[in-house]
Amino acid sequence: MSICYIALGSNLEDPFAQANRAIAALHQLPQTTVTNISPFYRSKPLGPQDQNDYLNAVVKLNTTLSPTELLDQLQSIEKSQGRVRKNNRWGARTLDLDILLYDNLIINTDRLTVPHYHMQHREFVLYPLYDIAPDLTLPDKQKLSDLVNKCPKNGLKKWEE
Ligand code: ATP
Ligand code: CA
Ligand code: CA
Repeated sequence: MSICYIALGSNLEDPFAQANRAIAALHQLPQTTVTNISPFYRSKPLGPQDQNDYLNAVVKLNTTLSPTELLDQLQSIEKSQGRVRKNNRWGARTLDLDILLYDNLIINTDRLTVPHYHMQHREFVLYPLYDIAPDLTLPDKQKLSDLVNKCPKNGLKKWEE
């Protein structure tokens, strides 16, 4: 069994409802148990600024799915919640589910980069991850607490619904 952390993001069509629906779908995944869910946060968009704020959270899973099988499942949840893949990276989306960490594995394939390639600099990933895993160390031995301390909050706040 492996321990994974999934980053969840949404900024379209009622992000709070999208997040809860995605979490319900994660609960339904085969060979997988949801073991923790961070508080929900509100963050400013990356890239194009002419879009809504994002809701962000991190979910912890136990799973016997392989990393690629897990990615397939996450992409199918995104699709079922109306995610339209466009060419513009960082554009608005109903749901984004990224694999942040999969045990202590380092993965670099065409489809997967784990740890997620920019997580160490993203406040909307580090803070919710820290809420549920304050003692975590990344595969490269960096302490999550050190990364959080170095990462400006950039306007990140708790989501009020
Ligand atoms: P970013 O990757 O900067 O967060 P994004 O989430 O908007 O941007 P997407 O369009 O959702 O990017 O994904 C593009 C591709 O990233 C996916 O098709 C997937 O194959 C690949 N990918 C690589 N590593 C991961 C990962 N750890 N988790 C999810 N997708 C990944
Ligand atoms: Ca993403
Ligand atoms: Ca993604």
